[in-house]
Amino acid sequence: MLERNLHMLGGTGESSYAANSTLQKRYAAGAMFLVKEAMESLVHVMIPTSETLLVFADLGCSTGANAFVTHSSIMGTISKTCKKLDRPMPEIQLLLNDLPGNDFNTLLGPALSSYKERISESMREIGVSFYTAAVSGSFYTKLFPKRSVHFIYSCASLHWLSQVPFGLSNATDGTVINRRSLWISNRSPPIVSRLYLEQFQRDFSLFLKHRCEELHSEGRMTLIIPGRFGANALTEESAPWISWYEDGLQDLVSKGIVKAADVNSFNVPFYYPSMAEVKSIIHTEGSFEIINDHAYEILYTNCLDVIPADTDKIWEKIINISRAVLEPLLVSHFGDSIIQPLFSSTLPKMYAKESFKEKYKLASQANLAISLKKK
Ligand code: SAH
Repeated sequence: MLERNLHMLGGTGESSYAANSTLQKRYAAGAMFLVKEAMESLVHVMIPTSETLLVFADLGCSTGANAFVTHSSIMGTISKTCKKLDRPMPEIQLLLNDLPGNDFNTLLGPALSSYKERISESMREIGVSFYTAAVSGSFYTKLFPKRSVHFIYSCASLHWLSQVPFGLSNATDGTVINRRSLWISNRSPPIVSRLYLEQFQRDFSLFLKHRCEELHSEGRMTLIIPGRFGANALTEESAPWISWYEDGLQDLVSKGIVKAADVNSFNVPFYYPSMAEVKSIIHTEGSFEIINDHAYEILYTNCLDVIPADTDKIWEKIINISRAVLEPLLVSHFGDSIIQPLFSSTLPKMYAKESFKEKYKLASQANLAISLKKK
């Protein structure tokens, strides 16, 4: 089952997700105004008393660094709105969800302690207690009791499908349909993008159905999904970084480190939807009203907190961001013997070339943020 192998690189080391999540932090920053808008309107309808408990859930939170940035922004907005309305601060519970393979030890250990330390002063000022709990499981299944959550947030997670698209890897006659690509590219036959879209439609519809049951009647949800601007998934370069791995794995095949058949059968379980696709699934599924949406892009070369002077270092860091996401999947398909040659030799040689830097200097990731209200 794919979901067992799906998780970011854990721990706090150099290649960990905790140390390589600045791109996702930018995604969240670009849509924080939608989160704040949702919080303000939730506080207005809930009219909190000191007995009120507001429950938030962050779905696909990983090891937490970014979840806590968003959480502190949510707390700030609630506190300001309560002051404006002259209401007491409600109690707050944060539910942190990810797949069972996620590094919950880092999340609930160092990440949570350092967050609590950082915010203890402002928490005292605001006069609020907040409680945290981890919920392990796939967000394509039921996660919480009915009507128990007030606000659901998910950033940079919903492009992860529950499985490699049905029909792509399990043809009964053993045919490998997408042998020339790891994903959807202009080398894939047209059926490939259809199979990916159909898997996304099934997964995202299921996600909406479960969340609607779990949300309070006034519940709100803000989703930030890496996606694409154009209509056509096949010709669109919606995730340029996947092509680096396509070239990298071919290099390992030519050196005899990886079998060509293993590369042919490897497909990345992501789908980067367009806003029209996301909205159409929301309309068809029918549980939510769309309150607001926003599409924006983040340049890969602009996503680092600290920009090294040396451009090779910039690219090393950008590759590390993709590594934190992809390494567990690569290891589960190819074994861990490819990690050293891929990340210490093949990819550094690739990004050391001027032609690579020139080609990708303006490469970016489109992001779709959408704010929803339960109907
Ligand atoms: N939201 C975080 C992490 C994004 S990385 C941030 O903004 O930084 C994507 C996360 O989604 C990973 O931790 C991955 O394990 C999780 N994920 C992917 N599919 C999931 C699923 N079906 N259910 C729960 N979490 C999932």
